[in-house]
Amino acid sequence: MKENPIIIIGGGLQGLATANALLDRGEQVLLLERNSEVAKETSFANAGMLAPSHAHPWNSMSDIWNIISGIGKKDSPMLLKVTELPSLFFWGLRFLRNSSKAKYLSNTDNLCKLAQHSLDLTKKLREDYDLKYDHSSLGTLKIFRDESKFEKASKEAERLSDQGLTFKSLGREETVNLEPLLGDISNQISGGIIFPNDEAGDAYKFCKELEKIIREKGGRIHVNTEVKRIHFNKKKVNSVVTDRVEIKASRVVLSSGSWTNNLLKNTKFNLSVKPVKGYSLTLDTSMLNDVPRMPLIDESIHTAITPLGYSLRVAGTAEFVGFNEEIHQKRIDYLYRTLENVYPSICANLDLDQGSLWYGFRPMSADGKPYIGATKIEGLFVNTGHGHLGWTLAMGSADLLADMMLNKETKIGSEPFLVSRSF
Ligand SMILES: Cc1cc2nc3c(=O)[nH]c(=O)nc-3n(C[C@H](O)[C@H](O)[C@H](O)COP(=O)(O)OP(=O)(O)OC[C@H]3O[C@@H](n4cnc5c(N)ncnc54)[C@H](O)[C@@H]3O)c2cc1C
Repeated sequence: MKENPIIIIGGGLQGLATANALLDRGEQVLLLERNSEVAKETSFANAGMLAPSHAHPWNSMSDIWNIISGIGKKDSPMLLKVTELPSLFFWGLRFLRNSSKAKYLSNTDNLCKLAQHSLDLTKKLREDYDLKYDHSSLGTLKIFRDESKFEKASKEAERLSDQGLTFKSLGREETVNLEPLLGDISNQISGGIIFPNDEAGDAYKFCKELEKIIREKGGRIHVNTEVKRIHFNKKKVNSVVTDRVEIKASRVVLSSGSWTNNLLKNTKFNLSVKPVKGYSLTLDTSMLNDVPRMPLIDESIHTAITPLGYSLRVAGTAEFVGFNEEIHQKRIDYLYRTLENVYPSICANLDLDQGSLWYGFRPMSADGKPYIGATKIEGLFVNTGHGHLGWTLAMGSADLLADMMLNKETKIGSEPFLVSRSF
């Protein structure tokens, strides 16, 4: 009898990467996406960084302080809405539990390992299929405006070099030599760190390329198909009910990002994942003579600025506001200000009102690590909770999951990402 295809729910980075990894192992897949196109939610206009160098969870004491000090303030990089506090209670406790130095460092190490494995697979896929997604292989440049933070980050990069991360610390002059447009703010820069193996690109274009590959390999993708419910029988997956039909299924992968828990309502468990809203602003730079060349992170303001083809994307901010879809002018102003703080002359020559504004909901787990693998229910698997690192970790997570589903040996340890891990 012909085996039913594996059903993958969600057509963002994780769902597409999972479909591709399973097809490569000879499985049949059917991916279901509620929108009219893949990658229209959180994978659409993210900062575009594939950055193992940035694979730190957000549980550090300084991030926690940023979150607390952002309570009620619409113009801070991190915003926590007071009315959201009750819904964040248990997640918040786990989040705090993972902020101890030992847990934070161990979670960082595991994320860094997965990120590097993932980046290798992304590079290989690009080369094998000649993918076009405005990619850059120049690395990521992190800049610092505070000497002590620069020293601390250099030490952390040194520590992560044990995990294979390569980096070079740069003085002010070397930093500006690498990105001459930083010359306007050179007197504010304490130093920089270049991570030469990091990459960047347009995640949406990458997803569209991946979609093409999946279809060519015989994978099926049904858009405009919302999964309403998964039916279980004696703790086993039985079928998937969409807004059109019921599909018999024995294996299902949940890669529905921040919405994953909606499909677990009829089970006795859920995942410790909450939506964390972030904004990006994409500006057309085709009329400028001088444009930034390096993907850049300004550590002092938690913001990424990424050149993508003939445009420049500014992304950042984190809001703990549930699925609130309001757009606050103060958040947009914050992104404008950020760009101005880093590239004042670029800002002066751009029509900022013409920028495309976007927001997405990062699926953030309480310990910052994705959930990858089997659940308590036979045949039900998950690949979600990648937070601010969803593209960086996508290909590696899918590779891990596909091997786990087929009981094959995984290339890196899977334990840190298991659904059953303790917090
Ligand atoms: C401002 C911002 C900047 C970021 N920058 C970076 C970065 O530089 N580098 C990086 O690595 N990561 C970055 N991220 C994070 C990254 O974008 C996310 O982690 C990633 O997109 C999550 O992918 P996903 O597939 O899990 O979720 P999504 O892309 O949200 O996909 C989930 C899909 O599931 C579908 N779905 C949900 N429920 C159902 C259902 N019931 N039936 C059918 N379909 C369903 C949704 O429609 C959606 O298409 C950023 C995020 C934000 C917000």
